[in-house]
Order: sequence, then C-alpha cells, then structure tokens
Amino acid sequence: MPIRRLPPEAVNRIAAGEVIERPAAAVKELVENALDAGARRIRVAIERGGIASLSIEDDGGGIPVEELPLAVERHATSKLVAADDGAVDLLNIFTMGFRGEALPSIGAVARLTITSRARGRDEAWRIDVEGGVITEPRPAPFGGVGSGTVVQVRDLFFATPARLKFLKSERAEAMAITDAIKRLAMARADVAFILETDGRTVLRYPAEDDPENEGRRRRLAAVLGAEFAPNAVPIDATRNGVRLTGFAGLPTMSRGSGEHHHLFVNGRPVRDKLVVGAVRAAYQDLLARDRRPVVALYVDLSPEEVDVNVHPAKTEVRFRDASAVRGLIVGAVSHALAAAGHRASTTVAAQALDAVRAGAWAGGAGNAAPGGGFGGGFGGGGFAPQRPTQAALSAWTLAETALAFAEPSSRVEPVAEPSPFANGAGADPQGVGAQIVDPLDYPLGAARAQLHETYIVAQTRDGIVIVDQHAAHERLVYERMKRHLEAGGAPRQALLIPDVVDLDPHDCERLAARAAELAELGLVIEPFGAGAILVRETPALLGEIDTRGLLQDLADDIAELGEAHALKERLEEVCASMACRGSVRAGRRLTAPEMNALLREMERTPFSGQCNHGRPTYVELKLADIERLFGRR
Ligand code: ADP
Ligand code: MG
Repeated sequence: MPIRRLPPEAVNRIAAGEVIERPAAAVKELVENALDAGARRIRVAIERGGIASLSIEDDGGGIPVEELPLAVERHATSKLVAADDGAVDLLNIFTMGFRGEALPSIGAVARLTITSRARGRDEAWRIDVEGGVITEPRPAPFGGVGSGTVVQVRDLFFATPARLKFLKSERAEAMAITDAIKRLAMARADVAFILETDGRTVLRYPAEDDPENEGRRRRLAAVLGAEFAPNAVPIDATRNGVRLTGFAGLPTMSRGSGEHHHLFVNGRPVRDKLVVGAVRAAYQDLLARDRRPVVALYVDLSPEEVDVNVHPAKTEVRFRDASAVRGLIVGAVSHALAAAGHRASTTVAAQALDAVRAGAWAGGAGNAAPGGGFGGGFGGGGFAPQRPTQAALSAWTLAETALAFAEPSSRVEPVAEPSPFANGAGADPQGVGAQIVDPLDYPLGAARAQLHETYIVAQTRDGIVIVDQHAAHERLVYERMKRHLEAGGAPRQALLIPDVVDLDPHDCERLAARAAELAELGLVIEPFGAGAILVRETPALLGEIDTRGLLQDLADDIAELGEAHALKERLEEVCASMACRGSVRAGRRLTAPEMNALLREMERTPFSGQCNHGRPTYVELKLADIERLFGRR
C-alpha cells in the first residue's frame, strides 16, 4: 500500500484514544481548561457515569467568538507563545494545558457544544462539533452577567463504539469522575467545586482563603474526611529551590492501598513512581509491607526543572534532578514523622472506644452512644521533649540488653521486682528531687499498674494511657539499633575468598560509583573488569547472603531511584526482627521505675507511637471519652 496522510478526523480519533480514554479523563481535561481560564467556581454535572452527558460550567475568562473555531482545532492553544522564529518554549509551562488536544479529541468522539461569553463582550456564542464535524459559531443565550464557558459533552464515544465497550459500569465511571474532581480540588483550594451526578449534588467545596495553609487544611478535610488533618503532620521544607508542603498521615492511620497518595507537582495532580517510591521510603520502617500511608504532598519548583510533557494525559512528570526531589521528600517526611514522636493517630483511640462501646451497649441503650466520635484527642501536635529523671533512666536497663545485637542471646535479665501495682510511682518524691516535673504532666503520664503482665496503665492529667509493653519496647530497641548503625557504620565481615559477581556493565558502573556509601553500610566492593564486581566484605548483620541478588537489587535501585535503597532496607529489616526477638516479652513483670522509664523513653524516641509493623504502641483515652462511655456526658 502507498503511504498516505491520515485525514484529520482519523488523527483526532487516534489522539482521543490516548487523551480521553474514559469519561473521567474528559472531565479532568475540561476542568483543567476552566482552571487555566481563571475560574473561581466550577460546576460539573454528569449523567449516567458521564457517558450520556457531562457538562462543565465555569466563570473564567471565556473564549471570544473569533477564536471558537480555533479552540476545537487540533494543536491550537492559547497557552504556549511561539517566538518569531516559530520556536515554542516547552520548558516554561505555567498552565495545566498546553497540547491543544483535548477539545478536538472530545469533538472527534462525541457531541460537543461550547457556549462562551468572553470577558468584556455582551453576547455569548456557541460552537458544535459532532463526531469531528464542526459547525459555524452562532449566538446563544447565556445565564448570568460575567464571562464564562459551558462545555457540554453528550454521547461520549458514540463515534468510536469499540471504546464504548471498554468502559466500566456507569457507577465505576462516576466514581472515577468523582476522584478526578477530588484530586483537582485538593490542588486548588482557592476554587469552588460542585459535582452533580444524575441531578444529585455529591460534592460541594466552597472556595477557601489562604489556600496554602489553613485553607488547604480545610479543603483536605473536606475531601479526605475530618479525621485526616488531626492525624497528619504538616510538612514544609525547601531545598535547592524545590519546595515541599502538605501533610503526611501518621503511620497508625495507614490504609491497605496506595490510592491514598495524593501528589501534586506545580499544582498538577500526578501519579509519579519516583514520588511514590520516596513516600514509601519515608515510611519504610513505620509500616508493615502491605500498608500504605495517607499523604497529600505538594512539590513546587521552577517549571524548567520538571518536564510535564511526558504523558498525553499529563499525569506523569519527569524531574530534571530526580534524586534531589526524592531526597527532599524522604528527608522532610521522615523528619516530620520523627518530630511527631510517639503520637499515634486519634483513629486508634476512636476505634478502640467504638469497640468498647459496641460491647457495652449491646442489647440496648442505643441512644447513649454519641455519633462522630471526638475530635483531635492529641490537640495541637507533638509534645515538647522533656528531660527524663536520672533515676528513671538508670533503672531502664532493659533496652540496653538488646543492644548487644550481634549476639542477641547474651541478654542480661535485669532483676525485676514483681510489683503489679506501682502505686503513684511518679508522684513519689523520694530520690527524684523537688524540681522534677510531676509525672502526671508527662504526655504519657505516670505508670499506675501493669495488667496481664502485658499492658502498662498510666494516668495523665486528663485521661489514661494503655501501653503495649512489647510493641513499645520493640520500637525503642529498633530505633536505638538504627542510631548505632548511623553513628558507627554497620559492622562488616570479610569474606574468606572475595566473591566475583558478573553483572551488566552499566550496573557495575552504577555500583562502583557508590562504593563509598555502600562501604558505610558494611558492603565493600570494587570494580573487577568491565562486567564484574568484586565483593570483599558484607554486612555482618545479614549473615550469609546471596551477594549476586543483593548487588542486582542495589543496581536496580540506583538506576530507578538514584539511591541504594535495598541495602539499608535489608539492614533495617534485620534490626527490626532482632528488636522483636530482643524486646521485653509480653508476660514479663515490670517494676514501677521500669514502667515509668519506658514511658519517658517513648516520649523521647522518634516514631515510638507505633511498632515496626505500624500497630500502635499505646492508646490514650481522655476522661471526657471515658465519661461518655458511662453515659455521664
Ligand atoms: P489546551 O488546554 O492544551 O490549550 P484544549 O484543546 O484543551 O487545549 O483547549 C484549546 C483552547 O481553548 C485553550 O488553549 C483555550 O484557549 C481555549 N479554552 C478551552 N476551554 C476553555 C475554557 N473553559 N475557558 C476559556 N478558554 C478555553
Ligand atoms: Mg486543555
């Protein structure tokens, strides 16, 4: 067959396959257009999952009648300026759109009507495109007084029946549209969004003032639920011109899927492998493998530092300095979580309390349980670090034992006086001196009792705290091991005969370039010709290892993420399991000073609010909540 140019309708349909793969993609493109037009209020209405009809109404600048035909033409856009020589600057993109593909693509596969009143004009005009056929603009009625645009799409994919067959149920498509609007609403708290599906209002977000701080917090609460903000730590970090803001959920509020990663790059909702990987790394030893945190992170940087033209739907980006961005995210998020210290999420207490309530109220008195739970039990955030008493610290010998972590068997059992009731251990003035803080004022309070040789019950000024001693101790030991790893470098063992591992030459180069960093983690390697690596020493903690597998994992990490992640991860995993084995068992009796020392150390230790598997190490019940349990409130 001879080579022929495709007719424009065919080109547009092919493009539509990429840009508009489902109704939600059309909604996303049209809402982005409204945002680019400066809209402050956007109303979306869909019918039957958007397949029968969808319309997007905005109060933006509108489209002048003379430009309407251009708007629906392929590769026509008002968002890129060409220089005199025709060169277009694709590096400085400040708008959501720039490819000039959405409207012609939609027009090629559906019945599209655009009605618009441009700023400063009196009349409104409409233009229709049906399966790629454009009709002349004609005057049209338009509500309201100001400028704005209504884009209406009916019978999506009627011109491409094959695509229609691939759509999910109407319900699923409606869900996808809702999600798309939620994502855009999280990106732009300053804009009001309304979504109506089949005549019912399902989303209504008012425009917020202060869209970078309090306004964003309110918008996130509206989108993600009221429990998000009080259970998340704020992030604000800048490095080398890259700014990271937003909120990172406490590990105890984790979910079973990554659907709850909300990432925005220069105001654009994206799904980016690198950012997802960085978030994973930041929470890596705080969550079990199958749990994912809830985060809303905003990366802002000069448009020149990020390529948004990677994907037709513009949902992926490429950073010029990917490892810097990754480093910023990992650093800032883990820092913020560490600063949150032993905070566990209020959902933990809420769940526990609900369970208690369920038991207590079974069979009657249904009116007594208040709905909605209680807000923000942890109030304004982390606690100021306080000095533990010397006496308490020296009594705390348990954590030390596990520190001999090369030989976990050589633990010294401390002599513990069985004393199930440590009456007023903290209030007891003996040996602690008068200037010491009243233990009741410590965040985790004064230990009052140990129950079932497993739980420490402590009293605070306005509530009670129940600590799972094993989970808490495991976390403390693990954090200590990590500190030792960081301070002294990982202990390593020399191989009797160095191992020669054959690898792809590129992988060898990558590994050799990081040799110094790897040596700090206990892995000593040297290049060995073009396609091989010589392994001289390995991390003692790992014992006998498959050096080839480890090197390959490391090379993959460096190639993909710019960082040798796998080794640290494995070392931390070993620490975690040793910490688990070396920790105070449930079932061991603790003395009052031991219990109080454990509480004080928890207060000082980062991440102590959850064990290495993301389970909480303690729950706190406020007196007010307890009073509710007994129907006193
Ligand atoms: P792009 O957004 O990449 O420029 P589109 O096909 O989505 O391409 O839109 C083409 C052009 O139509 C835009 O550049 C813009 O000038 C105009 N336009 C589209 N939607 C609107 C709107 N809601 N308000 C004002 N102008 C719009
Ligand atoms: Mg567009």
